Amino acid sequence: MSTRKPIVVGNWKLHNTISESLALVTELKNQLAAVRDVEVGVAPVFTALHPVAKRLEDTAIQVVGQNCHHEERGAFTGEVAPSLLADAGASYVIIGHSERRQHFGETDEGVARKARAALDAGLRVIVCVGETESERDAGETERRVGSQVDAALAQLTPDDVPGLVLAYEPVWAIGTGRTATPAQAQEVHSFLRGRLEGKLGSQAAGVRLQYGGSVKAENAEELLAQPDIDGALVGGASLKAEGFRAIVKAAQGDRA
Ligand code: PEP
Repeated sequence: MSTRKPIVVGNWKLHNTISESLALVTELKNQLAAVRDVEVGVAPVFTALHPVAKRLEDTAIQVVGQNCHHEERGAFTGEVAPSLLADAGASYVIIGHSERRQHFGETDEGVARKARAALDAGLRVIVCVGETESERDAGETERRVGSQVDAALAQLTPDDVPGLVLAYEPVWAIGTGRTATPAQAQEVHSFLRGRLEGKLGSQAAGVRLQYGGSVKAENAEELLAQPDIDGALVGGASLKAEGFRAIVKAAQGDRA
């Protein structure tokens, strides 16, 4: 069994007002505040980040930004700096989510800049990588995720490992109800672990690798039982407390 502490994060995407966010997080707080053997986080919309952080103040549940800019300040209308996320109560930020790459033109180079800036601001980062369906069908999965990882790590060093989480999220599995099989996911995670070793040496063993893509209560246990899957990045199923709690429990089961 790995000694890496599992990490399960709910990505709420563009859902929930402040009051809806607080209602959800209050349920999670009641159900999960005592969980210590799995790191749990929620990623609300920016406007709900601070109220959610206040509500979670006395718990171990982490608050996660969904994105950030690479600059700390300046004429960048509409952007949020990593230090401002930290100021609002976030301890992590998701970087390079496929929806950001797909709809907002984020590039591998941009992801690298954001990762560096976020780590410099004292945040931990969840860097997302994943192939499209056509890349998988063309046998290009390893080439694609390998190059995304190489690019994301271009400005990082082994000293950054404690702040780094890598999320493998096949684009064809996000929000589609289609999940990678545990064997498919493990195969890519094992490849990613090897790729990290090439970049970070023995420190790579400490990097937690999350799987994301239609994770739900029904499939979480089998996915999380894979040796190189150290947690889950959960979209749709994180919007209901009960479903999210079941995924956290599945991650706990992996430690038993
Ligand atoms: C995600 O948004 O990162 C995600 C994995 O979404 P879903 O669980 O809905 O596929």
